[in-house]
Amino acid sequence: MIITKTYKYKLYESKKNKNIHQKIDIAGLIYNHCIALHKRYYKLTGKHLNKFQLMKHITKLKKKDKYQHWNLVGSQAIQDIVDRIDRAYQLFFRNLKHGIKTSPPKFKKIKKYKSFTLKQAGWKYVDDNLIKIGKKVYKFSKSRELPENIKTVTIKRDPLGDLYICFVVKEKIEVPDRQGKSSIGLDFGLKTFLVASDGTKYEAPFYYHHKLKELKKAQKELSSKEKGSNNRNKARKKVFRLHKKVVNQRRAYFFKLAHELTDKYEYIFIEDLNMKAMQKMWGKKIQDLGYSTFVEILEYVAKKKGSRVVKVDRFYPSSKICSKCGEINQNLKLSDRIFECDCGLKIDRDLNAAINIHMGGASSIGLGNVRPAIIEAVSA
Ligand SMILES: [Zn+2]
Repeated sequence: MIITKTYKYKLYESKKNKNIHQKIDIAGLIYNHCIALHKRYYKLTGKHLNKFQLMKHITKLKKKDKYQHWNLVGSQAIQDIVDRIDRAYQLFFRNLKHGIKTSPPKFKKIKKYKSFTLKQAGWKYVDDNLIKIGKKVYKFSKSRELPENIKTVTIKRDPLGDLYICFVVKEKIEVPDRQGKSSIGLDFGLKTFLVASDGTKYEAPFYYHHKLKELKKAQKELSSKEKGSNNRNKARKKVFRLHKKVVNQRRAYFFKLAHELTDKYEYIFIEDLNMKAMQKMWGKKIQDLGYSTFVEILEYVAKKKGSRVVKVDRFYPSSKICSKCGEINQNLKLSDRIFECDCGLKIDRDLNAAINIHMGGASSIGLGNVRPAIIEAVSA
């Protein structure tokens, strides 16, 4: 199987870096110029601008004095901008055709414009930790070996102004044969991060909650600072750094968990989470826990390791069914932590749901009866 992988390295701070910031700013200007042309064309014709015509037009503009500075950005980077807007418009029109109203690509603030992308031209790997971008050589922190067969190079800046180089490669990996391994159901809980159908509980790690508290404090401080003041800028940087830490730690934990689960199981059944509905129900807390990010990572890792993540229909009432007798308990409230049934089953609510997800998922793909022994153990 071929997978796309990104190798990211931080660029050392240097006076030269202002050249890169300038390139990103110009890329932003070009982006906005293209958006303006697209918008006008769409208004006039109801169609979107042909990307080859647009590229031709830009090549002409670059010869004029007024647009001379555009040449500082490589033509491949411009091609990438044109392609990206084209894809966004195609998606917009496809959605429209299916009756889904989304907005076409929008203007972006230059300060917030983030990156430009090069293919084979416009950059060169010099040696060790040196890379040539345009005419200048830059030094980066070589935190890991460089990959081979680099497809594209993206130069990115974050909101603090730090710069990164991202090498994108296609890598071929061997997918192991996982047939015959067992299966499991997972329930996403609010108290416990994950409850598995065999009774294993996976908590969101402590350091994460700790950092989250710190982040909330920093956000509160930020909102108390006067707009435009130096202190506000400092507070903003602190929030950004903490936020990044939280996101990174969470990702690391999600990857670890995904590997743990895919090492053990060929089939992993989960609920098809309707995040919008859940957010309405629980508020922001769900977002903080990052379930949808976890599901993405779990699916990515599973694909590489030959496991399968199967989503169980979101209308399957996994929490209301008795996992022992199949009776539906309509009276179960959101606040009930224990599931009780007339048949005598008394079980943790999330575990009951996980067992149902396991059984529902297994039968949906014809795995047969996977009724686990754990039910007897819990209810006894
Ligand atoms: Zn029952």
